[in-house]
Amino acid sequence: MNMQPHHIARPLEDNMVFDVIVVGGGHAGCDAAAASARVGASTLLITHRADTIGEMSCNPAIGGLGKGHLVREIDALDGVMGRIADEAGIQFRLLNRRKGPAVRGPRAQIDRGLYRNAMQRTLAAQENLVIAEGGVEDLIVEQGGDLPRVGGVITGAGQTIRAGAVVITTGTFLRGLIHIGDSTEPAGRAGEPPAMGLSTTLGDLGFRLGRLKTGTPPRLDGRTIDTRGLVEQPGDEPPVPFSFLTKRISTPQISCHLTTTTQASHDLIRAHIHRSPVYSGKIESSGPRYCPSIEDKVVRFGDRDGHQIFLEPEGLNDDTVYPNGISTSLPLDVQEALLKTIPGLENAKILRPGYAIEYDFVDPRELRASLETHKVAGLYLAGQINGTTGYEEAAAQGLIAGLNAARAVDGRDAVVLSRADAYIGVMIDDLISRGTEEPYRMFTSRAEFRLTLRADNADQRLTPIGLAAGCVGAVRQLSFEKWNDTLVSGRKIAGSLNLTPNEAGRHGIVLNLDGKRRSALELMAQHDVDVTALVAIWPEMANLSAGVLEQLKTESLYAGYLDRQAADVEAFRRDEALRLPADLDYQAIGSLSNEVRLKLQTVRPESLGAAARISGVTPAALTTLLSYVKRGRGRQRSSNDSQRSA
Ligand code: FAD
Repeated sequence: MNMQPHHIARPLEDNMVFDVIVVGGGHAGCDAAAASARVGASTLLITHRADTIGEMSCNPAIGGLGKGHLVREIDALDGVMGRIADEAGIQFRLLNRRKGPAVRGPRAQIDRGLYRNAMQRTLAAQENLVIAEGGVEDLIVEQGGDLPRVGGVITGAGQTIRAGAVVITTGTFLRGLIHIGDSTEPAGRAGEPPAMGLSTTLGDLGFRLGRLKTGTPPRLDGRTIDTRGLVEQPGDEPPVPFSFLTKRISTPQISCHLTTTTQASHDLIRAHIHRSPVYSGKIESSGPRYCPSIEDKVVRFGDRDGHQIFLEPEGLNDDTVYPNGISTSLPLDVQEALLKTIPGLENAKILRPGYAIEYDFVDPRELRASLETHKVAGLYLAGQINGTTGYEEAAAQGLIAGLNAARAVDGRDAVVLSRADAYIGVMIDDLISRGTEEPYRMFTSRAEFRLTLRADNADQRLTPIGLAAGCVGAVRQLSFEKWNDTLVSGRKIAGSLNLTPNEAGRHGIVLNLDGKRRSALELMAQHDVDVTALVAIWPEMANLSAGVLEQLKTESLYAGYLDRQAADVEAFRRDEALRLPADLDYQAIGSLSNEVRLKLQTVRPESLGAAARISGVTPAALTTLLSYVKRGRGRQRSSNDSQRSA
């Protein structure tokens, strides 16, 4: 497991031809390339450096609230992130354990090196996938059809590589600019050059570009941290894996430690706030509101009782520690002084300073739900380039873009997940219908159907879709079918066993004395009824595994709510089914206000439901739109609708 992967990159030659080219080997790129290759497309993953494939630019962790759901969904579609996180995870915790299963978030601390190695090894072994090193500077775009069409990429070394579809996943690299105090340096990530040419190309093609920023804390030498007196935070025992395929976590597990900032830390930050590039006015772009820098926390939230810092080891054989909670772009001397004010870090040595990075992103309203751009056929964008933040958000988009790029070159319809299907659907719909003004990250609160979209049932929801789409391999198919059969028979058994309230009372289960017989499944719907009590009543249930019993319990807990949610889901699906033509001429709909017309023109919603989710599009405008489309008017040109109607 600790072995370095062999050198996985192959040399590029001018005029090579692939079905799909994926640009960038970050989290979006890895899952995009793997998905495209799984579907059967000959795929090239081209990235600056093969040894940074799977690199975690910021925190050594995967999952969390909302994000853990995304990882489970990626896994259900046979993506790579979940399996690799299981291999490299060194501390697993199920967040929100005290709340209902719908909002629990699996999270793991990751050994950065193990993750990179496992990702590189997995991609190197992927059939249909070639990995090459190089910087993409330009795109080949052919004019002639209804829309310009991408034909491939041009590298910094001047090589032309052709393909039917291109997926760009360049993360924070587009015109990336790093800030530490007063100093700035063009870079895509610390120590790596930015991508300049591609940004110009995208701008020239007419894509609306914006600028965002994010930041990272200094990395510390763990040998210089004094953990005595700090709160220790162990992981869960046993650890709960991400992947539906992982039976057991075998990587050794570690603890993290917890400390906090102090009054002295806050005084120091206030005294030097003018030296932070955000507060001195050097950075004007927006950062992630939910992951603020320590200077933002002090300015916006004041002293509180000190701001929490999780000291997260970056690996089993790596002394680097990631102090989660003090992302900063203050100058190095202030970063050093800050550590002296934090318990346990008084003598800590900085291995690499914290920094902020500004980068270009493409307004995600330029995209369809397939993640293909509206303006250039065959061109797909995924990951941080679309205004998101986070590895999981990136990988989820990568999977959808890679899958759809591969299907499109094969003449197949796009696979679109809706808000009722998956968190992935929620995220893509949010991005393409509302755009974003700050780095977008996933939360459970963004999903209106979150009682259905649980992390525990991601396989039930999505693996059948993945099988139909061709992106789920034989190993997962077998394992899913086996599990599904066990669940079905478990439901049947638990549904067929029943007793009266009086009989239940004799076993210590208190029910309404209404004389009604209740099945074991119905009894499980009561929070206070433990499945082991039911196994004691009905020996038939002893044959069901702990996993099946737990799943049945979760399903039963939600069954009542789901019946109530069914009508909402039904109404949602009805609106989604009212498709709007890709080339609808909004200018021709006289009775729309200019503001609404402009919004619709910008987003080009794919359904009436999607139009309704654009802020400012009124019910009256929707009625106008619907009757206009029903009259069959307003098509500008023949469209590639087949692509959009899946
Ligand atoms: P990346 O992981 O950035 O990968 C991009 C890849 O594309 C790289 O391999 C690069 O070499 C390659 N590439 C770029 N341009 C080209 C080109 N022209 N040709 C060939 N290859 C190219 N997320 C959080 O959730 N919380 C945080 O607090 C947070 N802080 C961050 C702080 C910093 C300083 C950075 C850099 C990122 C931070 N992130 C954070 C974001 C997280 O790292 C990203 O969301 C995630 O890595 C995005 O994945 P991606 O695949 O889109 O891009």
